[in-house]
Amino acid sequence: MRINVLGVGFDNVTLGEAVDRGMELLHSPGTHYVATPNPEIVEACRKNPAACRAVNGADLVLPDGIGVVKGAKMLGTPLKARVPGIEFAAGLMERMAAEGLSLYLLGARPGVAETAGKRLAEKYPGLKIAGARDGYFREDGPAAEEIRRSGADCAFVCLGAPKQELWMAKYGAATGARLLCGLGGSLDVFAGATERAPKFWCDHGLEWFYRLCKEPSRAGRMMKLPLFLVHVEKEKRQR
Ligand code: UDP
Repeated sequence: MRINVLGVGFDNVTLGEAVDRGMELLHSPGTHYVATPNPEIVEACRKNPAACRAVNGADLVLPDGIGVVKGAKMLGTPLKARVPGIEFAAGLMERMAAEGLSLYLLGARPGVAETAGKRLAEKYPGLKIAGARDGYFREDGPAAEEIRRSGADCAFVCLGAPKQELWMAKYGAATGARLLCGLGGSLDVFAGATERAPKFWCDHGLEWFYRLCKEPSRAGRMMKLPLFLVHVEKEKRQR
């Protein structure tokens, strides 16, 4: 059963369990998708029913962000762990490489997905990069068709939230991939265009603060975190 945090149901898994589940999905018939909501996305889902349906419709919903873990604890239904999407992706690629599976990279500014592909192929020998395309395409159909033609087993869909979740819900099956993962700005990190916070900050739940210092323009978006905690507090009292 999923843990409900303000209308979004989260799978109560550790990082290792999430990767195991991702591999199971990758080997199951049909198309599946993974969402990695943080408090900002939960807030977006409260206002946007279509986004909420797309996120909750995922086969695996991972708590990306310390705020979600705190929120679940405040509600008396703690989650085992925070599962950052980017760490889930790394675990998955390691296992995919060992099995010689193929990955398509969709999203980010022109050139970023290609660079990420080259770097990931070097980092995970055995992993096949089936193709890459930037996330600023005009028509969705041809992008999905390109993934299908590439024969990719898995696709990372990095278009920002909730665009990527809506895209996966609508076009996932058309891609023919068995697993799609919505991973926000991960391609920028894999390409070396954005740096992830050092381990200390991540381990202490301060990744958001590091990101804020590096990209002050995100301040507006980050104000969603205190708002999220206010809404959790309100929900707690109502329950
Ligand atoms: N993006 C995209 N197409 C769009 C809008 C955004 O490919 O139409 C990309 C953007 O270039 C960035 C990612 O989606 O690489 C979103 O990154 P953000 O940092 O907002 O995501 P987060 O990691 O915070 O969820």
